[in-house]
Amino acid sequence: MSSFRGGIHPMKRQHGGKRPTRDLPIREFISDSVCIPLGARQGPPSVPCVKKGDAVKVGQPIALPGPGPLGLPVHASISGKVTDVVRMAYTGDTPVMCVLIENDFHNTWIDGIYGQREFSAITPESIIPAIRDAGICGMGGASFPTHVKLSIPEGARCDIIIINGTECETFLTADDRLMRETPMRIVNGLRLVMRALSVSRGVIAIEDNKPEALKSILAASANLPGIEVKKLRTSYPQGGEKQLILTVTGREVPSGKLPVAVNAVVLNVATSAAIADAVLQGKPLIERVTTIAGCVKTPANLLLRNGTIIGDAIGECGGYAKTPGKIALGGGMTGICAPNDQVPMTISTSGIVVYDEEEAQSLDEQPCIRCGKCVGACPSGLRPYILKHYCDEGDLIGAQSEHVLDCIVCGSCSYECPAQRWLTASFKNMKDKLALAAKGGNGK
Ligand code: SF4
Ligand code: SF4
Repeated sequence: MSSFRGGIHPMKRQHGGKRPTRDLPIREFISDSVCIPLGARQGPPSVPCVKKGDAVKVGQPIALPGPGPLGLPVHASISGKVTDVVRMAYTGDTPVMCVLIENDFHNTWIDGIYGQREFSAITPESIIPAIRDAGICGMGGASFPTHVKLSIPEGARCDIIIINGTECETFLTADDRLMRETPMRIVNGLRLVMRALSVSRGVIAIEDNKPEALKSILAASANLPGIEVKKLRTSYPQGGEKQLILTVTGREVPSGKLPVAVNAVVLNVATSAAIADAVLQGKPLIERVTTIAGCVKTPANLLLRNGTIIGDAIGECGGYAKTPGKIALGGGMTGICAPNDQVPMTISTSGIVVYDEEEAQSLDEQPCIRCGKCVGACPSGLRPYILKHYCDEGDLIGAQSEHVLDCIVCGSCSYECPAQRWLTASFKNMKDKLALAAKGGNGK
């Protein structure tokens, strides 16, 4: 089996923290109300097209695409009454516009949903517009608009679509369950993308710690021309786009370039399933499977409507097992810290991981002992101990010379560092500064 460079095995003895939820079937939870952020996907914020007091149905657009090619519509995830359209605090520093809906519990969908269309009736040119109209973005965490990812620039070409079923992050089992329970949606999403881009090779890549998912996807894709299922050795962060492309194809995406530079496109399994739902059923993206894990009484894989308040989802899992110290949105390695449990999950929230007060304590940084473990762990071939020096100094030029922009913020270096150096946090901070500077800010 081929693999990418570096990488680690976080929480190996605890099976990556996946054991409590890996065998729990997906169950649906629909809350009394939702708070749907309109600026949670990459690209310009969507523009609200409903107002307080409006009645909405599930799947109805509540916000139109923002300006430019990255714009995406947002749809109501429950039926009921709009109780407010207001700016609210979310995970970042800046409040985002949110649409609040109170559930009428009729689950009334807009017309035209659930009419399953024949696969053969779908024309290639109709697929990408349908993906855009359904508001689909990457569900592996990046939330980049999928229709843009699938719009191959002029002069470029794509010869392979890779469906990312690695789910290498700690604690998460949502994708594993999706592959085990609804494999045909994932396979159909891949077939549709292959048809849209006239690509004859599709690979579904799954790590070898998910044998049931492998079996399920193999059965669903048997005898379908051009589709392979590839078993990969379990390693973190194999699910990084560049790492996965290297493992699957042996092609190295150059620094600063996108996967299409090596003729590849990578999509998460949940995104692939959403594509099938959108194109074959006309169903907008209004829900996702999220793993609720860590310090909760009954961990679960919940099918949540977009905008579910994370405290409601935790309540559905019996509440906190101990006093919570930190809540991460995403997995244990790359999750973003939620300011409190009253913020909503979104379409890119693959997990809600709760840490107790003891687990949440951050240890004091110690001086670097030049052991080189961070270098060995880095999948991007960086020298984190040197890069950290530039980041601590606020030296934007030095940090760029050490390729900070190639850092995928995977956390492997911090995980391995015996001196508890805050490596990843420094790199994320520096990348944010550089992004700000690129937009015209001073990066200070
Ligand atoms: S966080 Fe960045 S520097 Fe650290 S291991 Fe991951 S890619 Fe390398
Ligand atoms: S792992 Fe930590 S202590 Fe070792 S070289 Fe890297 S930063 Fe220094």
